[in-house]
Amino acid sequence: AAPAALTLTAGGLIGCSWAMVFAAGGFKVKLYDIAQQQLTTALENVRKQMKELEESGFLKGTLSAEKQLALISVCTDMKAAVEGATFIQECTPENLELKKMIFSQLDLIVDDSVILSSSTSCLLPSKLFTGLKHVKQCIVSHPVNPPYFVPLVEIVPHPETDPSVTEKTYALMKKVGQSPVKLNREIEGFVLNRLQYAVISEAWRLVGEGVISPTDLDVVMSDGLGMRYAFIGPLETMHLNAEGISNYCERYREGMKLVLNTFGPVPEFSGEIEQKINQAMSEKVPAVPKHLGARREWRDDCLIGLAKLKKQM
Ligand code: NAD
Repeated sequence: AAPAALTLTAGGLIGCSWAMVFAAGGFKVKLYDIAQQQLTTALENVRKQMKELEESGFLKGTLSAEKQLALISVCTDMKAAVEGATFIQECTPENLELKKMIFSQLDLIVDDSVILSSSTSCLLPSKLFTGLKHVKQCIVSHPVNPPYFVPLVEIVPHPETDPSVTEKTYALMKKVGQSPVKLNREIEGFVLNRLQYAVISEAWRLVGEGVISPTDLDVVMSDGLGMRYAFIGPLETMHLNAEGISNYCERYREGMKLVLNTFGPVPEFSGEIEQKINQAMSEKVPAVPKHLGARREWRDDCLIGLAKLKKQM
């Protein structure tokens, strides 16, 4: 039998997406949530998405949608949910106290071999796991929304995490087709959000200072920088944009420092600039569920197309 992986909490965006990722990898998945209704809705959502993906030829894995669905079961009893699991992926809301409560409940019922992994976007492992009896088995596996279409997973160990837990988590993520990266130590924002916030903050300042409009700012990324970032990172970009890194530094070192020294302070992300950006974005995509939902669907279609292209390259 396929070893059981387990996703805590279901109705959630991330929980459902993880369930699909693990089922596509052939793992049995038990979805646990406090509310039965959440689980019923979650299963309906997963079924609908899998069927659509199968029809359009984008279902991941080698099994049919029906077979993948058969691997997923739901449960509102934590003890029963954890039974037989080798890997537990927690996906409750981003709230430190709630997550700490969940992990301390799990700590009481798991054995010494299961891996306890959190989807947290920004809570540090030392905040989440310190003091747990099974701290050596705890780790953060931070996905990117939606993990089914964007494969990166940031693996962030607690200082006491056993290195074999990091390795096993890395191997599991590879096995289910994700693209894991390992952080050697925890840091606020991990790596993805640190890079993202660096970009957001300079975008905010440029719009705030009236250098460029909000919509044009986004075009700089979507039709400029972003085009290559889907294939090569910023460091390889340097390497290729000159005759190697050393040559790039020789040529652009002073220029980069000059520009970077003109960057302003951390923005407040409020007030007039917020209103200006909100107005521009809302003209493009009204901030109501119907329009946001349609745009997200379009984004996911683009990501599917991009994933397909990346596979061919
Ligand atoms: P969500 O609000 O969509 O889902 C949370 C789920 O947790 C709900 O189904 C809810 O019923 C359930 N829940 C609440 N209290 C519970 C409890 N005590 N026990 C069991 N289940 C409980 O949230 P989400 O967007 O799926 O985010 C989940 C986690 O993933 C967060 O830590 C978030 O930071 C992280 N994450 C989110 C994104 C994103 O873009 N949404 C990206 C990466 C990581």
